[in-house]
Parts: sequence; structure tokens; C-alpha cells
Amino acid sequence: MRVRCWVALILFLVPSVLEAQSRTGASQMQLEQMANRFAPTPLRVGLSSLSPGDRQALVKLIQAARIIDEIFMKQLWSGNPTLYQHLQKDTSSLGEARLHYFWINKGPWSEIDEYKAFLPGVPGRKPLGANFYPEKMTKQEFERWLDGLSPIEQENAKGFFTVIRDKAQASKLHGNADENSATPFLAVPYSDEYKDELTRAASLLREAAGLTENDSLKKFLETRAAAFLSNDYYESDMAWMELDAPLDITIGPYETYNDEWFGYKAAFEAYVNLRDEQESAKLAVLAKYLQEIENNLPIDPQYRNSKLGAAAPIRVVDEIISAGDGAHGVQTAAYNLPNDDRVVQQKGSKRVMLKNVQEAKFRAVLLPIARRTLSRNAMLDVNFDSFFTHILAHELTHGIGPHQIKVGDRETNPRFELKELYSAIEEAKADVTGLFALQYLMDHSKELKLGNTLPTDEAAQRQLYVTFLASSFRELRFGLHDAHGKGMAMQFNYLMDKGAFVPHGDGTFSVDENKAKNAVRELDHDLLTIEAEGDYAAAKKMLDELGVVRPILKRALARLQDLPTDIEPIFVTAEELAPSTSAQGVVTPPRPENRKGSKSRSTRR
Ligand code: ZN
Repeated sequence: MRVRCWVALILFLVPSVLEAQSRTGASQMQLEQMANRFAPTPLRVGLSSLSPGDRQALVKLIQAARIIDEIFMKQLWSGNPTLYQHLQKDTSSLGEARLHYFWINKGPWSEIDEYKAFLPGVPGRKPLGANFYPEKMTKQEFERWLDGLSPIEQENAKGFFTVIRDKAQASKLHGNADENSATPFLAVPYSDEYKDELTRAASLLREAAGLTENDSLKKFLETRAAAFLSNDYYESDMAWMELDAPLDITIGPYETYNDEWFGYKAAFEAYVNLRDEQESAKLAVLAKYLQEIENNLPIDPQYRNSKLGAAAPIRVVDEIISAGDGAHGVQTAAYNLPNDDRVVQQKGSKRVMLKNVQEAKFRAVLLPIARRTLSRNAMLDVNFDSFFTHILAHELTHGIGPHQIKVGDRETNPRFELKELYSAIEEAKADVTGLFALQYLMDHSKELKLGNTLPTDEAAQRQLYVTFLASSFRELRFGLHDAHGKGMAMQFNYLMDKGAFVPHGDGTFSVDENKAKNAVRELDHDLLTIEAEGDYAAAKKMLDELGVVRPILKRALARLQDLPTDIEPIFVTAEELAPSTSAQGVVTPPRPENRKGSKSRSTRR
């Protein structure tokens, strides 16, 4: 079978086709074609600058990251651990193709095909509530149950770090159910739900803490290890904000994208990185102007924050290994954490840019896409600097705009008010505010004495919007199930409607810069105002109307079918330091029977 246009096709799939597919699963050839959309890319990172202690610590951190893969697979679906084990035993060539694509997705659903099942005997699509809620619970049931709880219990039930379980099931597993309670459900802390894995990961983090000479890394690792066991992440989130070390690590429960019901529950992820000292220093210069940009955001001045928190740190790093929620489907290019608004309020947030991942994506995916979607002249304006700078601006501007808001007399925040729509709105806000911010800096480079930090000439301005147009095609190919994709479709349609993106008869596009500048301001105004007012209805209207694939876009995407969608990272340096036992970068977790009763097991394989 030829590689189909998955984004377009999925719109016409009737349920019976999905069911048939999930009964037999994809064929070997289909699986190989699906996997081929991820260009295998070795990630090699030079470690010569690391101290001997850090080098030893790194081995432990790589091992801890691999445990995060195990937890994440559990979080995605209750059937995942057994299925994964089964796939590893299947040595047929079909079995290998299945295992390979399973590993890319960390589950039996193809993320870039709207989570359609590619293996037999599994639900046709990833459950919307993943494994954060009981399998048989409905969204309405959760809401009804929630209504009957006390405010404290409600907070717990909606918390980042609890799963909801059937009371009967939970009391069997954890023995902590309140037998007298009349409610059928229970909020179980992650520290209980993933006790075995978190105990092993915590002990590896403590070992690493004992090996590194860097105090801020030591502190983060020790407090994070404690958080794994206590379920209280606050102190370690604060320590992560202060982490300033050559070994830059992020490990824990963070993003809530996989809770497609409410966006309440955090999935585990890990990134083990080496800091790029020079780039970090250069980019920190841009962060200096955040307050200036906040003061000039295109919103009602009453919604601007006249005093942003302390300047937020930026790290530019090269990724050594990523795991869990940080390593499935389309690879993370940059992230902005933590998500806990209490920490963000006090310390701001930290941006980590994975430069080697971004360069790999730019080369393997973006340039080929640009060659097919842009007019000849526009193509000349696509470059890695603009791409990298806009991703930086995206990350920077997550930290500005409305975070603590008032709805009526109630103190609240946009995440809480916009619920499952928040991620799509916030991602779009960061894209558009990023464009706005860079344009602002270019327009005011003389007053601000930007010097050589940012190219500001006409060509640089053109390159900014054109490269953004090219990268929007790259993101739209991921489908609309994902917050980035839906937010990007909304932006694309908005900018088309305003004449900023210009279609040509031959199917290519270019940019009208002047219209783009104004349209970006207007769109930014709309998005920031939705967040400032916590306006769920307005967010829904905007996403329903604009977060769709229109025919002209569908045709453009159809021309990209055979190009890779993303990279499949091969963690060469991680494998060299701490080899996993499997082929093709597939990591094999210990079998459950080996794990039982081995609490102190701190090294695997
Ligand atoms: Zn973002």
C-alpha cells in the first residue's frame, strides 16, 4: 500500500473501517511505511567538557530516564505493559515491525494518525482519558462524582498527580480505600500508583546526586527523588528552576496533553541534556526584554502584568536521551516548565531548547516541505536561524501574557478556566506572541540597543514570517488531535483569511509581510483576551470555526505525503554510556517477575 495522506484520510474514515483495522492490525508493509515517516537520526553529543563525576552521574540519569518510559506506557493505557512484553517476544518480521512502531508511539495507536490503532485487539483509538481515569468511567460520571465531593477532595481529584480509580480496584491494589465512603471512585496519588517504578527511579536519582559535584543538580535530584515517594512536587519544581549545571535534566510528571478529557493529569517524561553554554548566554539577552514586550502586548492595558516575575532562565542544550511523554511520536523541540502556577508565579518558568533535535528536524523535514509548499522566491527566505529564533520566542512568550486572572470576583488562571481547550489556545498564543515579540524587537532595535543580538533588516523580517509559514505546514501534518496541531490550524486559517498567507495557482504559498504584521497583532489580541477573561465559550468558538483542515490546506498537505513527518531519534551517546539490551534503539524493561521484590534494584540490564 502506498503511504496515504493520513490527515486527510482520517476525516473520511467511518467507524467500521476503524474497527476492521483494529481487528487485524496494520500489515507489515503498512507498519514499515508508517514508521518511515520518522527519519532515523542519530543523536550524538560530545561529552569532553563533563567532569568525571558528572559523567558517572549521567549513566544513572540515563537509566532513570528509561524507567520513565515504563511509567508513561502505563499512563497511556492499562494494557500497554502486557502488550509491550508480548511484542518483545514476537521475533517474526511482522512482530519486529509492530514493536518498532509501538516503540515510536509508546503504545498501539499511531499518534500522527489521530491515534488510530495499528495493532489488533486494542481499542480503535487511544482512550480520551488515557489511563488516568477508570476504563469504564465516562466524562459525565467524573463530573457528577466531582460535584459530590468537598472542595479539598475536588482539588485532589483534579490534581496533576493523582489518578482516578475504581474504589474496589484501588483497595485491592493499594489497600487505602475508605471502605465507609459511599462514592465509587478514589483519587490515588502517583506515588502509590507507580510505587515500584518511582522507588527505582528515586534511588537512581540519589545515586546521581552523590556523584555530581554541582550543588544545584544535587539539590534537584535529591528533592525530586523525595517527590517521587511523597507525591509533593513543589520543592523539587522550585529546585528545578534553580538548576544551573552542565548536565541539564528534567524528569517527572509534567504535561497534561494526554488527559484529553480535562487536561488535569500530568504524564511522566524525562530529558537528559548537555547544556550549550555559549548559546544560553546569547539567548538570555533576549529574555531581558520580556517586560518591555509584556508592556506593549496588543491587549487591553488592564490585562498586562506590570511586574513580571524574576527574569526566567533559558537553557539551550543538546539532548542525550528523552523518555516517556518526551519521546513518543513527534519529538519535542523545546519545552517550558514547570506547569504548577504557584511555582510560575514565584519563579517564572524555565525554557529548555533542544538545539540538536531542532537542527535535525529542520534538515530532515522542514526544508523538504518548504521546497514543495512555498513559491520559488519565498523558498529563498527559509533558514535555520529564523526557525530557531521563533521557537525561542515561542518558549519565551509562554511566560508572558495572562497567568493569574480574575473572573468576576474569583482569582483563577486560564488553564483552569479553558480546561481541555487551554493547551491549544496557549500553544497558539505562544506562536503568535512569539511573532509579535520578534517584530517588536526588530522595530525597536535601535532604542533597545539590541546590537547584533537579532538581525533586524527587511530580509530578516521576511524570513521570520516565511519560515513560520513553512513550519506551519510541518506542524499541521501532525493532525489536529494535538494541541499544537489544532492551534496551528486555527492560526493558519486566520492568517489566510486576513491575506497574510497567499495561495498561488500552482499550489504553493507565499507571505504578504505587511498584512502578516497586522494580522498577527489582531490574532494575538484575540488569543490574549480569551486567556485574560478565561473565556471558555470564545475559545471554543474560535477553535471550532478555525481549528479545522480546509480544502486548500488539505490539498497542500496531500502534496507532502511521501516526506518524513519527523525524526526518530537514535540515542547513540546514551547507548554508548548505558547500553540497553535491545536492537534499533528499542529499550527493554525488565520483566515484571524480575521487578517484584527488588526494591533496591538501582541498575537495570
Ligand atoms: Zn509551547
